[in-house]
Amino acid sequence: MLAHRLHGIPPTIFSEMSALAMRTGAINLGQGFPDVDGPPSVIARAVKALRSGHNQYAPGIGVPALRQAIARHQQRHYGLDLDPDSEVVVTTGATEGIAAALLGLVDPGDEVVVLEPYYDSYVAMIQMAGGVRRPITLRAPEFRLDVDALRAAVTARTRLMLVNTPHNPTGTVLTRAELQAIADVAIEHDLVVITDEVYEHLVYDEHAHVPLATLPGMFERTLTLSSAGKSYSFTGWKVGWATGPAELVGAVLAAKQWLTFTSGSPLQPAIAHALDAEAEFPRRLAAELAGRRDLLCTGLREVGMEVREPEGTYFATADISALGWPDGMAFCLALPARAGVVAIPSQAFHDDVEAGRHLVRFAFCKEPALIEQGLARLASGDLTA
Ligand code: PMP
Ligand code: GLN
Repeated sequence: MLAHRLHGIPPTIFSEMSALAMRTGAINLGQGFPDVDGPPSVIARAVKALRSGHNQYAPGIGVPALRQAIARHQQRHYGLDLDPDSEVVVTTGATEGIAAALLGLVDPGDEVVVLEPYYDSYVAMIQMAGGVRRPITLRAPEFRLDVDALRAAVTARTRLMLVNTPHNPTGTVLTRAELQAIADVAIEHDLVVITDEVYEHLVYDEHAHVPLATLPGMFERTLTLSSAGKSYSFTGWKVGWATGPAELVGAVLAAKQWLTFTSGSPLQPAIAHALDAEAEFPRRLAAELAGRRDLLCTGLREVGMEVREPEGTYFATADISALGWPDGMAFCLALPARAGVVAIPSQAFHDDVEAGRHLVRFAFCKEPALIEQGLARLASGDLTA
C-alpha cells in the first residue's frame, strides 16, 4: 500500500526505542527530551495566550511578535540583520522546517550532500522530495569533517548541502575552519546550504557555535533552521523557525502552507517571550548540561565503553566494541533486559552502517539523579555479549 516515496524508510528509531523503554520500564536515555520543563514564565505566557483569544489560525508565516523576537535573537547573538516580514518563517518544530525546506528546494534527481550520521528525518525528507543523498561521514573517534570527502561528493547534480552543527548524534561542533571549507565549496559550486542549528546554545567548554550564515558570502545562500524545543526545554511544543534571504524563506513558506498552513497560535507569543525575557535560560541550561555530560561520560567509561566527549548537543556517543556485541542495534535491544536502560544505536543514522555499527548514543538531558540511576544499572548489569 505504501507509496514509493516512503519505501525503505524504517519507522523512526526514536519511537521504536521510546516504546521499548515504556514496555520494559527501562530508564530512557535514548530519545532526547529533557525531564524538566522550560521556564515557568514561558508556560504562564502560553496559558495567558490560550485564555485571551489566541486560539484561531496564526498567519502562515508566524505571528509578528515571534518573528520579531527571532530577528532580535539572530541580531543579539550573531549580528545578523533580518527583516522579520520576509526573512523569518515560523515552523512546527525544526522538523517541519526540514521538511518544508527540502520539499521547497529539491527537485527529483537533485543530489543533496549531507553529513552522516544523520538526524533521521533528513533521510526521509530527501527521499520524499525525490532527492538523492550524498553522505559525508563523520567518523569515529574524532567525528571531524572530511573536507576531501566533501569536495568529492559534489557533482553537477548537487543542488544543496544539508549541515547540522552542533551535530546530533556525535556531539561535534563544527569549527570555523570546517565551516569555511563548507562555505568555500558552496560558493565555488553555487550551492544552497540548509543548516540545522537546533542545538545552537548547547555548547560546552571552549567550543563556540558559529552560524554558517555569518561567514562571508554565505548569508545569501544559507537557510538556517532552529527550534525552541532544545534551547528552552519545550520539545513537545514544536515551535521552530527558518531564517535567511527572502527567496529561501519563501521556498520554505511555499511548501509549509500546504503542510500545516500555520503553526499553533498560543505557543508563538510564549516563545517570543522566551527569546526576549528569558534570554539567559539557554546559557544556564548549557551550564547544567555540561555537568551532566561529565557525569554520563565518566560513568559510561567506567562500564567499559569508550566515549567521545561531546562538544555540544545533549548526546554522548559511546563505542561498545570492547563489550563484544556484533552491533549497536543488538546491544540496544538487549540493554533493557540486561540493565534496564534504553539507548539509541547510531547505525540507524548511517548509510555507511559499518561506520556506526559499534556506536551507541546516550542522552544526558536528564536530572543527575536519573543519570546516576541509569549508570548504576549499567554498572550492575551484564553488558558483555
Ligand atoms: N534537528 C535535529 C538535529 C534534532 O536533533 C531535532 C530534535 N529532534 C530536530 C531537528 C527537530 O526539532 P523539533 O523538535 O523542533 O522539530
Ligand atoms: N532530537 C531528539 C533526538 O534526537 C528527538 C528526536 C525525535 O523524537 N524525533 O533524540
